[in-house]
Amino acid sequence: MRRLISLALLAASMLAVPSARADAFPANWKQPATPFHVIDTVYYVGTEGISAWIIRTPAGLILLDGGVPEAAPLVEANIKALGFALSDVKILLNSHAHFDHSGALARLKADTGAKLAASQGDRFALEHGVYPGSENVHAFDFPPVQVDRVLADGDTVELGGVKLTVVLTPGHSAGCTGFTLPLTDKGVAHTAFFFCSASVAANRLAPRPQYPGIVDDYRRTFVRLKTIHADVLLAPHAEFFDLKGKRARLDAPDNPFIVPGELDRLAATMETEFNRQLALQTGKVPTP
Ligand SMILES: [Zn+2]
Repeated sequence: MRRLISLALLAASMLAVPSARADAFPANWKQPATPFHVIDTVYYVGTEGISAWIIRTPAGLILLDGGVPEAAPLVEANIKALGFALSDVKILLNSHAHFDHSGALARLKADTGAKLAASQGDRFALEHGVYPGSENVHAFDFPPVQVDRVLADGDTVELGGVKLTVVLTPGHSAGCTGFTLPLTDKGVAHTAFFFCSASVAANRLAPRPQYPGIVDDYRRTFVRLKTIHADVLLAPHAEFFDLKGKRARLDAPDNPFIVPGELDRLAATMETEFNRQLALQTGKVPTP
């Protein structure tokens, strides 16, 4: 009985989110932010809450993520404010096919003429504008966008001699896609990791999983993340990497985005939360 009650509450809490999308999602997802140079070839062009990244190359720009559908004009204005043209964007990438990160891609693709490269695991969601496993939740829908190139784990995305390497971390979405990027700061080599996410968020783990194999995917992803050696963590939600705090310290002698160990700490936190959610959703812990 307890388990039934907890499942019912869980279902209710999940449904509560999309039923009132405008009120339920954080206001900062649509709140304009001033774009800025992050480090080396990387620029921030997202909103206060949701990241969008520019990677500058001699042959044009790579744009990673677009935010919620309403963020498209904000991201475009940010790109222009940095002195770039929308037509400079040659390649579009997506951390994962959830509306808060992929919702603006269709508009951004149309306005830039860039090609979209994305994983096979997220392709269906991108091309149909749905949250797989929650297709009935229309608050999660977003304008569909065509994938031009399918990315597999270990593939590289190259433009003008700048090379991103694909690290698939499925779980948060079936095709959750991270990228490593070599950087130089004051003559010293660093590695950035554009982390997709490994949070549970709105995902069902059990008994009716969001997609088949989601639990094993998360587990493999937590193992994989321990093998990524990066000292610049960049992620799709501002709070994952303390965007605000670091942005406030951009004038400091050392670039505040260089933080060895930050990825490991975030991944460990998410793994703990995953295990807690799994126990909760499988009824292995008593509800309070
Ligand atoms: Zn997401």
